[in-house]
This record gives sequence, structure tokens and C-alpha cells, in this order.
Amino acid sequence: MKWTSPDDSLRRWALGRRTLLKTALSASVITPITSLSMQFGAAGTASLTKEQRDRMTPSQIVEELKKGNERFRAGKMVARDYVAQKRSTAAGQFPAAVVLGCVDSRAPAEIIFDAGIGDTFNARIAGNVVNDDLLGSMEFACAVAGAKVVLVFGHTACGAVKGAIDDVEMGNLTGLLARIKPAITATKFDGDKSSKNAAYVDAVARANVVLGVDNIRRRSPILEDLEKKGSVQTVGAMYDLATGMVEFVV
Ligand SMILES: [Zn+2]
Repeated sequence: MKWTSPDDSLRRWALGRRTLLKTALSASVITPITSLSMQFGAAGTASLTKEQRDRMTPSQIVEELKKGNERFRAGKMVARDYVAQKRSTAAGQFPAAVVLGCVDSRAPAEIIFDAGIGDTFNARIAGNVVNDDLLGSMEFACAVAGAKVVLVFGHTACGAVKGAIDDVEMGNLTGLLARIKPAITATKFDGDKSSKNAAYVDAVARANVVLGVDNIRRRSPILEDLEKKGSVQTVGAMYDLATGMVEFVV
């Protein structure tokens, strides 16, 4: 089956029953769109609606991610009612972004960006590397479900990056770490190039993010096309485990 139309069955599946219900009951459904701003976390009980997501540009979504990180760093996160958000998203989801992050327990994107249930797609893999299955997931998120930002989300002191620097070989990890090796080659660094040197590890992680963004553009004609049209923006950021700061690097 080839998905070429936004009206195909997968898109309907992604949008879920909410759209169908809205169409059928449009006169009687009360949607508090006008009372909410378009930002993430505008209300702790609601998640992004289709209307809110669709009227944001990719750049505005990146700005909302930055604001969410500021709230996180300041300890002023939105008070969320996850039970209410679970209820409001059960029939459909309209996430604004898809994040490709690391499995590291200290780098949970939803918390770091102060986003709620239904606001972002999240893919996590050691070293936030790109592979075909993840590209497929990101294509689904954007081309089918309507997300507008693809974010490659690396972090400081990444164990996977250290493992790649150390040429660790272990089971299935060997092949995964091989995907980080091009970032080692691409990193220009004066000084101790070992996994003991935090600055070097972070420089490689940063190069890995830049190459990740490049990889997505080169290997996904679908996402590249959406980006050329201006409906999707692919960006990369580094998260500092110590300060909580997210720095957009590409
Ligand atoms: Zn990591």
C-alpha cells in the first residue's frame, strides 16, 4: 500500500475518532479553542488541538519548545492534569513536533520541554542515531499525523557517544555505536580525544546531532520535500544535563 494522499486510511487512523465526531456533531460540540492560546501548556487539562497545531508555523513551534525549556529550568512548569489530558487525547492526537532523543534516563524530552500528553511524538534510541525505522517513524509523524518540527535531541555526557569513542563491542550495541562513528571522524578537536574528556565527548555528541539532521534530510525524500515546502523544519539541539539548558545547534 502506498500512502500518497492525506486522506488515506492511516491519516484517518492518526487523527482518530475525534475528527469524525466533530464532523458529525459540529453544531453541538463545544471546543474551547478561542479561550486557549496556541502555546504548549496553555492549559494543564488540555492538549494541543488540531486547530492550535495547524495554525503554528514550524518556527513558532521551535519557540514554544524553547519557552517550555525555560519553564523547566525555572521550575515553573505548567501544572498538568494528566488524567484530563489522557481523556482529551484518547480519541485523537495532534502533536506539533517529533523528537529523536537518547534513551538516557536523564533526557526525557517531554519533561525538559514542559510538554504534555499529546503535544510531541518521541522516539528514543541510544545516541539519538538515525536508522530506517526511525526515519519511517518521523515520516509518519510529519507526513501522516501533521507534526511540523523534527528535532534531533542530543545531550552532554552521553554514554553511547563515550562507548563509540572507546570502540566498545558488545552484542547488538556494536552496530548501534557504529552509527555514531562518523561524528567522531567529523569532530575537529584540539586536546585529549578520549571518553574521559567531557569537552571532547560533548563535541562529538554535538557533531552527532548535526550529522543526524543532515542524515534525515539526505535519507528521507518525504521529509526533505515537506521542509522545502516550508511545512516542516528539521532542527538539532543539545541538552546540558548539568544546567537543564537546551541549545539549538542547527
Ligand atoms: Zn545518551
